[in-house]
Amino acid sequence: MSDTEPHKHQHHDALLENKVLENGLIHRIVLPLPFPQVRQINAYIVGRKNYILIDTGIRTDDSYNLLTAYLAANNIRHIDAIYITHGHVDHFGAAQKLIRDGIADNRIFIHQKEIANINNEYDEALYGNYLKSYGIPQDILEMMRYASAFFDTMADRLGDVSFIEHGMHLAYDGGTFEIILTPGHTSGSVCFYDREKGFMLSGDTLLSRLSPNPLLDLNIDGGRRKSLVEYIASLSVLYTMNIQAVYPGHYEVIPDHKSLIKNLLTFHYKRMMRIHNILQQKPMTPYEITTNLFKTLQQMDVFLAASEVIGHLDLLEQHDMVQTFDKDGLLYYRAV
Ligand SMILES: [Zn+2]
Ligand SMILES: [Zn+2]
Repeated sequence: MSDTEPHKHQHHDALLENKVLENGLIHRIVLPLPFPQVRQINAYIVGRKNYILIDTGIRTDDSYNLLTAYLAANNIRHIDAIYITHGHVDHFGAAQKLIRDGIADNRIFIHQKEIANINNEYDEALYGNYLKSYGIPQDILEMMRYASAFFDTMADRLGDVSFIEHGMHLAYDGGTFEIILTPGHTSGSVCFYDREKGFMLSGDTLLSRLSPNPLLDLNIDGGRRKSLVEYIASLSVLYTMNIQAVYPGHYEVIPDHKSLIKNLLTFHYKRMMRIHNILQQKPMTPYEITTNLFKTLQQMDVFLAASEVIGHLDLLEQHDMVQTFDKDGLLYYRAV
C-alpha cells in the first residue's frame, strides 16, 4: 500500500462487476454503500446447488433490490444460511430482511465477540473519558452519536444468531471452510478458508485498496482493545498460510496476499517510526501527535486519525519505545 493516509481515501468509482469465481462455486455480488470512504461491498454466494451467503450488504432498497435481482437472475432461489464476517452494518444489514422475505432460512452465524457491534452498543460516557485523557475535543462525541444513528438506519436488528468459532469446520455444497479468527479490524472478525482449494473470504481483514482501520474500541468492562497490535498478529498468521486467492469484503480479488501483507506491515512500521520521531521533540498527548502528523482534518477524520495514532502508540509500547505518564488529567507519551 503506497498511500500513506488510508483513512482519507475518497472513491467515486463505478461498482466492480458481479463475478462468478472458482469455476462457478462462488458468486461475487457487488452492492453499493453510501459511505465516503468506501463505496461498495462484496456479498458472496457460495455453493453449487445449495447456497450459503457470506455478508449481505446494507438493507436499503437499492442494495437489497440489486442483491435479490441477482439471485433471481441466477436461479438462486434459496439460501440455507447466512454467515457474517464481522458485525459492521455493511456486512450484515440485509440479513434479517432476507429471512423475513423467505429468501434465506433463519440461520445466521457470527462470532460471539461481534455481539456488541451488531447491537450498535457503545458507552458514550466511557468514550468521553478516554477521548478527554487523549486530549481529543469532546465535540467528536456528538459526531459519533450522529454516525451511530446513521448506521442504525442501514441494518435491521438481527433476531437469533448462532456462533462460529476459530477452527470450526463448515461443510458447504462443494467444499469445506475452516473458520479463522483474525482479530484486529474488529475483535471477532473471521475469515472463511477453503484449505483444499486454497481460497479465502477475508471480510475486512485483508482489502486490496484500503488499509482496514483499527478504530478506537472500548470493551463493556471499560478496557481498551489494542486493535492494531491484534491486527498485526493476525496478519502474521495469514502470511504463513497457503492461499491462491483472497476474496475480500470490498473491492478487487487479492491474488498475492503475501505482498499485500508485506506492504501493510511496512506501512504500519514506518508510521510507527514516524510517530517515534515526532515524540523526540517532546512528550505529547495522542491528540497532539495526531495534529502534528495530519495538518488538516475534518471532524470524522480526527476520530479515524486519532484511532490510528493510538494503534501506532500501542505498537511503540509493545516494542518498549515509549513510556506514558499522566499530567493534569491528560495522557502523555514520551519516546525512549
Ligand atoms: Zn468492517
Ligand atoms: Zn466493510
